[in-house]
Amino acid sequence: MRIAVLREQTANETRVAVTPEVVAKYVGFGATVAIEKGAGEGSRLLDKDYKDAGASISTSAATAVKGADVVLTVRRPTPELLKGAKKNALVMGMLDPFGHEKEIGALAKAGYALFTMEFMPRITRAQVMDVLSSQANLAGYQAVIEASYAFDRAFPMMMTAAGTVRPAKTFVMGAGVAGLQAIATAKRLGAVVSATDVRPAAKEQVESLGGKFVAVEDDEFKEAETAGGYAKEMSKEYQAKQAELVSAHIAKQDIVITTALIPGRPAPKLITKKMVESMAPGSVIVDMAVERGGNVEVSKRGEVVDHKGVKIIGYENLPSRLAASASQLYAKNLLAFLETLIDKEKQELAINWEDELVAATNLARDGAMVHPAFVEKKE
Ligand code: NAD
Repeated sequence: MRIAVLREQTANETRVAVTPEVVAKYVGFGATVAIEKGAGEGSRLLDKDYKDAGASISTSAATAVKGADVVLTVRRPTPELLKGAKKNALVMGMLDPFGHEKEIGALAKAGYALFTMEFMPRITRAQVMDVLSSQANLAGYQAVIEASYAFDRAFPMMMTAAGTVRPAKTFVMGAGVAGLQAIATAKRLGAVVSATDVRPAAKEQVESLGGKFVAVEDDEFKEAETAGGYAKEMSKEYQAKQAELVSAHIAKQDIVITTALIPGRPAPKLITKKMVESMAPGSVIVDMAVERGGNVEVSKRGEVVDHKGVKIIGYENLPSRLAASASQLYAKNLLAFLETLIDKEKQELAINWEDELVAATNLARDGAMVHPAFVEKKE
């Protein structure tokens, strides 16, 4: 079994799909691991370390993928990049299929068995394979670090001989994986933290981290969670009531971190231009939903906007800003999944296509799309 790992091609993508520690595990399963030269550079992982762990270093992507049974990636590769891999090779990564049906279709047509890690079910057995959580957790941390850097005051209260510095007031919108880590990080830095979410279960989680929960808790709110634990899109009436409560709160904040997402929908717009203008100059907003349309009216993807003295940070790919940690966890997520697809005695791939995790993540195989979300779309 030959596993290939390529240098990521996407701009500003500094993560890599394996670490030397994980290479050693694959070698232990009887696999050979071929890594394109410099693939780990963005995460400070050196070719020498991969070699010491048992990998071979290939001078080009084409040499690395030649005869590969499995190609591990962070982002979706192009069919050209995979040329030379075995006909039914598994290609695993965060393939971001929604909105990229054409690109996915081309990969499917080339015959690869495509697995997209973002579709991993959020069940106990698959927690160790949950790339959304591993990366969102780091992103939530990084969002607060970026905010603290852009903020021209201290986060903690400081009582000094020369006077008292008041703590930064931080408000986190959306208390999922990223939001909860943002709350915890802001707390550790000494901020006074509050948070909101439309899922009632979030209230207890926010409070357990020492945050104050801010939300309109009416009957609609009490029902506002899908069976899968995700947010529902709220009614216009609820959104109006919530916006009123939130806008009064935002005017008093120094830092706002927005993380609100609804699966399969554009990110809800939670902060209007007027709300931004209600904040004191020097305040900072981090729009973590910027890649899905943004929670803030004035945020711009990939940019830091200065709107009347308020900075709105719209960095893309926050996990790549702490690539060493992000790669470490991502590589482990992939390892945990691939391990379930290997017969360790025979040292070969043995895939049960009926398995819940396989069925949920497998987009295409044998030259055709197989995932219900995409097969149905075509009809
Ligand atoms: P997400 O990234 O899809 O969304 C972030 C948060 O935004 C969510 O908490 C959502 O409720 C919130 N949100 C949406 N619209 C909002 C609005 N208008 N105002 C305020 N907040 C809004 O969420 P996520 O981090 O992927 O987590 C989603 C769910 O999955 C949670 O219930 C989480 O506990 C659960 N989860 C389970 C597991 C597991 O393994 N069992 C792992 C991770 C997450």
